[in-house]
Amino acid sequence: MATTVTAPSKLRANELQSLLGQIVEADRVLTRPIDRIAYASDASFYRLIPQAVIRAKSVEEIQALFRFSQQHSIPLTFRSGGTSLSGQAISDGLLIDTARHWRNFEVREGGRSLWVQPGLIGGRANQALAPFKSKIGPDPASIATCTLGGILANNSSGMCCGVEQNAYHTLQSIKFVLPSGTVIDTRDPNADEIFRAREPELVRGIMELKAKIEANVPLRDRIRRKYRMKNTTGYGLNAFLDFETPIDIFQHLLIGSEGTLAFTAEAILNTVPDLPVKYTGLLLFSDLYAASASILPLKQAGAKALEIMDRASLRSVETQPGVPATLRTLPEGAAGLLAEFQSGEESERSELERLAAEVSGGLTMLVPGVWTHDAGQQALLWKIRSGMFPSVGSVRKSGTTVIIEDVAFPVERLADAAIELTGLFKKHAYDNGIIFGHAKDGNLHFVMTQGFTTQAMVDQYEYFMDDVVELVVNRYDGALKAEHGTGRNMAPFVETEWGSDAYEIMRKLKELCDPHNLLNPGVLINPDPKAHISDLKQLPSVEEEVDKCIECGFCEPKCPSRDLTLTPRQRIVVRREMVRLQQNCSSDRELYAALDKEFPYMALDTCAADGLCATGCPVSIDTGTLVKRFRKMRHSESAHRWSERIAKHFSLAERGARIGLRLGHAAQAVFGKRAMLAITRFLHEHMTDALPLWTGDTPHVAGAVPTTRREGAAAIYFPSCVSRTMGRLPLEEKDRSVMEVLVAVAERAGLPVFIPKDVAGNCCGTPFSSKGFDRAHKIVANRAIENLWQWTEEGKLPVVVDTSPCTYGFVHTRPYLTEENEQRFDKLRILDAVEFVADELLPKLKIQKKTGSAALHPVCSITKMGLTPKLQKIASACSESVTVPISAGCCGFAGDRGFLVPELTQIATRVEAAEVSTRHYEGYYSSSRTCEIGMTRSTGEVYRSFLYLLEKASR
Ligand SMILES: Cc1cc2nc3c(=O)[nH]c(=O)nc-3n(C[C@H](O)[C@H](O)[C@H](O)COP(=O)(O)OP(=O)(O)OC[C@H]3O[C@@H](n4cnc5c(N)ncnc54)[C@H](O)[C@@H]3O)c2cc1C
Ligand code: SF4
Ligand code: SF4
Repeated sequence: MATTVTAPSKLRANELQSLLGQIVEADRVLTRPIDRIAYASDASFYRLIPQAVIRAKSVEEIQALFRFSQQHSIPLTFRSGGTSLSGQAISDGLLIDTARHWRNFEVREGGRSLWVQPGLIGGRANQALAPFKSKIGPDPASIATCTLGGILANNSSGMCCGVEQNAYHTLQSIKFVLPSGTVIDTRDPNADEIFRAREPELVRGIMELKAKIEANVPLRDRIRRKYRMKNTTGYGLNAFLDFETPIDIFQHLLIGSEGTLAFTAEAILNTVPDLPVKYTGLLLFSDLYAASASILPLKQAGAKALEIMDRASLRSVETQPGVPATLRTLPEGAAGLLAEFQSGEESERSELERLAAEVSGGLTMLVPGVWTHDAGQQALLWKIRSGMFPSVGSVRKSGTTVIIEDVAFPVERLADAAIELTGLFKKHAYDNGIIFGHAKDGNLHFVMTQGFTTQAMVDQYEYFMDDVVELVVNRYDGALKAEHGTGRNMAPFVETEWGSDAYEIMRKLKELCDPHNLLNPGVLINPDPKAHISDLKQLPSVEEEVDKCIECGFCEPKCPSRDLTLTPRQRIVVRREMVRLQQNCSSDRELYAALDKEFPYMALDTCAADGLCATGCPVSIDTGTLVKRFRKMRHSESAHRWSERIAKHFSLAERGARIGLRLGHAAQAVFGKRAMLAITRFLHEHMTDALPLWTGDTPHVAGAVPTTRREGAAAIYFPSCVSRTMGRLPLEEKDRSVMEVLVAVAERAGLPVFIPKDVAGNCCGTPFSSKGFDRAHKIVANRAIENLWQWTEEGKLPVVVDTSPCTYGFVHTRPYLTEENEQRFDKLRILDAVEFVADELLPKLKIQKKTGSAALHPVCSITKMGLTPKLQKIASACSESVTVPISAGCCGFAGDRGFLVPELTQIATRVEAAEVSTRHYEGYYSSSRTCEIGMTRSTGEVYRSFLYLLEKASR
């Protein structure tokens, strides 16, 4: 029977490596334990360890992998963003990573359609469509991370898209590869004939299934009725009724098929208008019934988003900053609704107001609704709603995970259903369960925490799910999965929801496409009634950062090492496995040793410790902090003592660095670039890995610190140790130093700055903290704050720092300070040069001559401090056109990591460099010398401080 789930056949890792290495290049076949563990988790609470991970690149490779899977009876699963919640992107066979090499796209028909490859991130697609005022229809909350491959395969949707704008309804064409190896692009006008000719049995089967459905009137009506609501349980049977030709039916069956029927190699989607004019309101009601009663009138008035929130979910966010105080005083049983009207036209704002007022007049609310046009207020309201899932995640007990379920009910019975769900939380002792969801579509999400470490916990979940299935299916005839796909989680209940006739059709469809049941087996169709409680993830208690992680993967697109070694999620997943193995004495020692061997390079050395992961993480985990902790633990006591000595005598170290740069360039003149690289590599590998590699783009030594006057100074200028040591790049023209330039523009604006004469030897401490030398960090940080306190005359003048990562270091230095210095720190005003220039100097400067075009690289610290708009403002004042590449991210240079692990910078900047290189700009600017080295290295264009742009334009 095709749908039987069999244990995968096992080849030894070296056999697999060598056999698969004949299909794809060996470095794209991953069989090391660390890689297999890193890919064992998706965002669900299931886990399977793949035998190999293959980073496929082409359709031909996919065809060959299908053949391989059949020849060796090894299951094969596609993995894209890995954000699936139902266990559909994991495998104990071959896991094909299709996110890495399939990211191309093309905007077509003036933004009315989009050609995509499956690895393209949804949010990236929307960035590309933004200039055309359009976007893709599907709008899952995970859009900044999930990819088009996953969106199509899961038929994902979100707050606004409803059932009308999902992938099923916005699909134009698809290029797919069947397990048989047949490739068809439905864009081809002859696609249907080709399909019939190449796959006669499949085509015949599809048409027979269509006929069966059409002849079965109750089933036909049931399908029609069920797809008026969101439904991703089982295959999308509506395709059999909505379309006539086999190819049309099949391409729509692929949507929502969770990678169990074929591989999607390309697709074209019709886009939908992006409606930038928004009017958003938070409405509070005495109970869920009153909230539910408002759904229909608001929907009929044209509300595009209607998010319902129960009392528990409102309580979960009530202490967060900016949340309206009323939330804290709501009575028990109260409910909220977040409503949004949208339009494409600015002129329609008042009409949106009118609509909202009209419909609100007829609603019974606890307090009058709060409506706003203000983008900041709107963002806050949406933050309240999107903060609900993480709020449960961040307060859960360590060792537990967060479960988010996803069901749909008829809209008119939503309140009853939500109240009954709350009853189930009580019955099964889920004390922190919350309910919210897309009320417009009858789609409720419920979130609760769950451990799976004891049988009692597994039983608790099993009995709860039995009751949920009974409630959703038998009492409400709803959908067990509205958005997130069936996966392993609901596979045992597909027949319960759909009935045996429909289930038989689904089983037959799977058998027609994948007769050996090797393509993502166990997902969507699974005869095992306990599949939903098998292969559960165990989450041991580890470190604070690790324990909070829900393995959602939202941090991954931000991480500069994602294409080199591991992503933040994978670092955490591997760490968890290592602790699990340590805690479980009987477990695999060999595996532990293998992980332990690879961990230092894969997880620690190649982390830029830039903390960008925290900016995408719903529970704010900075994996860089974890990495720094490990780096600290790696250092011997004598290394710590050495670092303390260096910190105490930092001015000597600074002088040494200046001498080193001078000598290095002199030696390069004699020996040449290559010899210098070879010499430093030898020393790096055999003597100390703290010695930077001489990469050929090492800057010249910086000029002397300029002399300035204290009298009349508007600010203290703190040139970072990087600016004080690193000067012009080898490719850069001779010019004034960045210090001289900032002094000059400040003088020109009438706000002169003063550089203290004894600034040498002072540092924010980041070079120490990033390497885990926290004792040394404390020494330099405290000294710097003491000196800043004196230089600023106890906080009278602000401090301006010219290197953004150092500003960030200073701003976050408080936890490392003595009590006395904490108090000083609180009174200091430390500004990044970007902020100082944008807010203070720019308004006082006359821009004489704009340059033509400027490309910007906003460094991570600028992004984290929210200063990118100010950098853009300065550049726009000085240039005719300013470009921030859509793919701009961390360059991976991370202070000196670009000299120590140059491959990190090379990989991290690849996409941004390719984007920048598509045209020439008159200037390339940033706000950190080391990041400028990284970007110059990858683009071949000289990146300089934005201060040069300003100085030239205001000359
Ligand atoms: C916090 C959080 C919030 C979420 N919110 C939403 C939401 O609002 N709405 C929603 O719908 N979902 C949501 N999801 C679920 C998930 O993000 C989406 O379903 C998403 O579309 C999955 O995309 P992915 O790129 O991560 O795919 P993956 O998880 O990697 O894969 C998904 C499925 O697609 C298959 N697949 C991938 N690529 C291909 C291909 N090229 N060909 C064939 N099959 C392929 C895989 O085998 C798998 O079955 C959320 C997830 C998280 C963690
Ligand atoms: S670190 Fe944060 S974003 Fe990354 S997987 Fe964990 S919870 Fe998700
Ligand atoms: S700190 Fe940076 S490099 Fe390290 S895991 Fe986070 S995003 Fe990746």
